[in-house]
Amino acid sequence: MTRTCQEIAAYSERLYYDLEFGSCKAWKEDGGGHCVGYMPVYAPREVIHAAGAMPVGIVGAGDWLEVIRGDAYYQSYLCHIPRSTVDLAVTGRLEFLDGMLFPSTCDVIRNLSGMWQMLRPETYSRYVDVPQNFDPEIGGRFWEHELRELARELGEVTGTEVTDARLRASIKLFDENRAVVNEMYALRRDQPHRAPTSEVYLVLRAGNVVDVETHTALVREYIDTAKATDRPDMDNSRVVIVGTFCEQPPLGLIKSIERSGCFVVDDDMLLVSRWFTADPAPDGDPFGALARAFVDHTVPTAVMYSPTSGRGKALVERVRRARAEGVIFAAPSFCVPALLDQPMLVAELDREGIPYTAFKYSENTGQFGPIREQTGTFADTMKLWSAA
Ligand code: SF4
Repeated sequence: MTRTCQEIAAYSERLYYDLEFGSCKAWKEDGGGHCVGYMPVYAPREVIHAAGAMPVGIVGAGDWLEVIRGDAYYQSYLCHIPRSTVDLAVTGRLEFLDGMLFPSTCDVIRNLSGMWQMLRPETYSRYVDVPQNFDPEIGGRFWEHELRELARELGEVTGTEVTDARLRASIKLFDENRAVVNEMYALRRDQPHRAPTSEVYLVLRAGNVVDVETHTALVREYIDTAKATDRPDMDNSRVVIVGTFCEQPPLGLIKSIERSGCFVVDDDMLLVSRWFTADPAPDGDPFGALARAFVDHTVPTAVMYSPTSGRGKALVERVRRARAEGVIFAAPSFCVPALLDQPMLVAELDREGIPYTAFKYSENTGQFGPIREQTGTFADTMKLWSAA
């Protein structure tokens, strides 16, 4: 039976709110194998998959778990995602995970990696030190070595050796997934009234907790349905959201921005699903291909070192490509990478005369009224400026 966009979004929303990770447990029980979690922003999901495990994106607990014990592990002023992730762990909700990867996103996640080893010493975990040097002979070789080590260790956890053939097959599946995700983003950019971000985000987010082939089919279904569904166009302002690459904004916040008169035509949520700007080479050594794609074709983001003002220029390009009228900086409270990046990005937007507004959020922010007023005023102002 054909589902509507709302039904696909409702299915994805059930996954979004399921803090028991029922879809992952069901996959395991069906004889699927192992589950290995990963924190934002980037983890080599292809290697996890090639080891016979489902990569599971862990992005905190949102606004529907009261954090109690997690607060004891971190300073109260820090961002929220590490604390709610600790609470997920100490309440037993992540026991189905056979391993956990902590990328070198920032000090907070690095420290969480150490805490995890104390919380769950019986389970495999690894701090994944992604390169910050993009010379193929330096960062590329380092990363290839890391990928091989990770593959060997995961193979010991799952009992499935990561052969070149297995890894090549996994890379192909994630290439296909990235292609449909990019297509969904292009649809939203070109016809945002057909594919609102409150739905696109849920469909994207489902990829955290279902296997890659299921997710690719889900995104395909959403694209085809959205294209075939007539929805009224609106005179909204087109905006790009920046800063949401790690701790995720609550769904209510995304809806509030839309309801205030904005079409979100690009964003940096859940970047792992579109990390590479070009596919890894399909032939030859797959570890080398993944490493080369990382150093040559990584999406610009605050957690990656950039020796030049490249990220500001890249943001301007994104704004132009999305035909956006302005930028919303939406950073998690005390997110050091997002907030340190902002002045450099703002300087570039100022140079180009691109308007912007900024606010901070937590994954458990519950009051959206002030943000809705702010983004609504921003949207109205852009319309007035562009009409002047
Ligand atoms: S929200 Fe920012 S500071 Fe917090 S863990 Fe993520 S990247 Fe680090």
